[in-house]
Amino acid sequence: MSESADRRDRARVAFSTSGVRGPVLVTSAANIRYLTGFSGSNAVLLLGTEPDEDLIGTDGRYADQVAEESPGLPAVIDRATVAAVAGHVSGSVLGVETSAPLAVVEGIRALGLQPIAVPDVIEALRAVKDEGELALIERACQVTSLALEALIPEIRPHVTERYLARRLETLFSDGGGEDRAFPTIVASGCNSAIPHHQPDDTRLEPGDLVVIDAGARVRGYHADMTRTFVVGRSPTAEQEDMHAAVEQAHAAGVAACLPGRAAVTIDAAARLVLRERGLEDRFTHGLGHGVGLEIHEAPAVSSRATGTIQANMTITVEPGVYLPGQGGVRIEDTLVVADAGPRALTTGGTGLRVVGL
Ligand code: ZN
Ligand code: ZN
Repeated sequence: MSESADRRDRARVAFSTSGVRGPVLVTSAANIRYLTGFSGSNAVLLLGTEPDEDLIGTDGRYADQVAEESPGLPAVIDRATVAAVAGHVSGSVLGVETSAPLAVVEGIRALGLQPIAVPDVIEALRAVKDEGELALIERACQVTSLALEALIPEIRPHVTERYLARRLETLFSDGGGEDRAFPTIVASGCNSAIPHHQPDDTRLEPGDLVVIDAGARVRGYHADMTRTFVVGRSPTAEQEDMHAAVEQAHAAGVAACLPGRAAVTIDAAARLVLRERGLEDRFTHGLGHGVGLEIHEAPAVSSRATGTIQANMTITVEPGVYLPGQGGVRIEDTLVVADAGPRALTTGGTGLRVVGL
């Protein structure tokens, strides 16, 4: 049985176990890729109650691609994709994902079927990676780590944030990445206090903190990594203290990434370090997230997370401290939770590096 067919069977069992009766229309692109191998931008998958009812639908642009990427899976090629696939449902109800667009739900109703929201069981399956997935994520993380290291000689006063972002993305391509995993963040000076600052024409100034948060993508799998630098001048005592606090929080978070731990306790382990230094209210986001076919996926690792960490999950640990008007520090690694404990897939020391002197 193909890997995709095996995954579909596991999803079928998981839906049945969670009480879903009847077929499910899968519309999430990442879920479809996971269950079929198809990587095109337009598709729906009918996951039948029996394997021989599985059916993928896409449009004419992808007729060849779907045959190549999803061999053995019957396909319908039709511009009215949802209607063409849902037309094969024999019963009266059809499961839909909570992420399904309203237009899909309405389209199902228009066919005389009753849409039923189903739980996120495919996302839960995807959270635990198999060997092939781990190899691709590790490759994406290697490309990312090497590219960031290669960028360091170019991080110097007077270059712009935008220049560094584009250079890093070129280095991803040179290293074998198919694309960036998400829009690269380069945030210097006061901008480094903005967690999701988008790079602009701001020029790096001597003494700036520079936060670079980026990742490469390899065959659909993402990497996510952040390092913070001081450019062109020795760091101030305040910059060193802030960075040391985040580095300790990062280490505490990584050490807590063990199979069987509640995700919320991993966030808490890092947050405690910052609380003891009076910086907890400057850490304004969750500690991390799952990484795989999507840059942000299950499990959430935050103060509100409800899940449990399992072996072979790939997650980020990314504490940060942000002082508005002054600057910020974030350190992030993507790691795999092995049975024996966490193993960082992004590499390179976490210490504060002075660059561009
Ligand atoms: Zn990141
Ligand atoms: Zn992240």
